[in-house]
Amino acid sequence: MYDVIIIGAGPAGMTAAIYTARKKLKTLLVSKQMGGQMVWSNDVENYTGFSMISGAELTLKFKEHLQHVTEDLEVREGVEVVNIERNITTFELQVKDGQTLYAKSVIIASGKEPRHLGIPGEDKFFGRGVAVCATCDAPLYKNKDVVVVGGGNSAMDALLALSKVARRIYSVNVNEHLRGDDVFRRKVEATPNITFYNSAKALGVVGDVQVTGLSIQKADGGLEFLNASGVFVEIGYMPSNSFDKLTDKNEMGEVKVDQNLQSSVPGLFAAGDINNAWGEQIIIAAGEGAKAAIAVSNYLNKAK
Ligand SMILES: Cc1cc2nc3c(=O)[nH]c(=O)nc-3n(C[C@H](O)[C@H](O)[C@H](O)COP(=O)(O)OP(=O)(O)OC[C@H]3O[C@@H](n4cnc5c(N)ncnc54)[C@H](O)[C@@H]3O)c2cc1C
Repeated sequence: MYDVIIIGAGPAGMTAAIYTARKKLKTLLVSKQMGGQMVWSNDVENYTGFSMISGAELTLKFKEHLQHVTEDLEVREGVEVVNIERNITTFELQVKDGQTLYAKSVIIASGKEPRHLGIPGEDKFFGRGVAVCATCDAPLYKNKDVVVVGGGNSAMDALLALSKVARRIYSVNVNEHLRGDDVFRRKVEATPNITFYNSAKALGVVGDVQVTGLSIQKADGGLEFLNASGVFVEIGYMPSNSFDKLTDKNEMGEVKVDQNLQSSVPGLFAAGDINNAWGEQIIIAAGEGAKAAIAVSNYLNKAK
């Protein structure tokens, strides 16, 4: 029986774990991978203490910090939680390999995961030209032509990352203009090797062994086939919480929390992008991880 199990090792979960272990709470941090969305960010320019750092480097710093916590903390990577149940005052978590974990409290810090387009060929060619992480996969497309589908911040991040390595990039966006941070948008629009298809719709990914292109419907209704070796699906993110049937959610599926980051279920907290509090940033997720950890400590003290 752990005092607290933290689900997800993004900035929220890793920070929460450092705090709960320092409070001498027997802590288990479980995660599918370490770093969360942070590893997908090229240039992080807004995490205090680092004027510029890549998401991958910042993840390493977080992991090094975790390794310094040698007492009261166990970290299990590559573990996916598939269900949570409440037993009067404790929690039972099922993980994918069939194991059951027990805790007096839980912090959900499972963040967000990429949305899919749901068009023909997307699943078939996933990993064979269809990708969701430009930061991770851009180097594979050196001097090649690629398409980025989407028009928000994640799409713009991908366009900038790819513009440095790919030969030509097609931006396919259902809206009239790119939407997101103005600074970002200006940079993207001034990049010479990007061709923009606004008010356009992705219809299907085509390929043989690998992707060969994307068919689209343009603003004027006409169809076009864009020859490309890669199709990056960058249409935003959705809460990664299909394992949680216990808590109340908002219309976007985010866990509703109070000012202590406690959900509708006593003892079950939610920190970072997974909750309905506004602000989806690394520093905010880390701050909420710290706050949820202190709230867990207070909750367990009261429960004694
Ligand atoms: C392309 C991109 C660029 C960005 N750039 C910036 C930036 O420059 N500056 C900035 O401040 N923010 C940036 N962000 C936003 C920032 O990365 C997020 O706000 C932040 O990572 C959220 O942290 P989190 O810990 O809440 O969740 P996440 O980072 O999403 O981490 C969630 C973790 O939970 C794990 N998980 C999910 N489901 C389960 C499960 N069932 N079982 C076990 N583990 C699970 C995941 O594997 C992951 O490790 C960017 C985001 C993206 C996508």
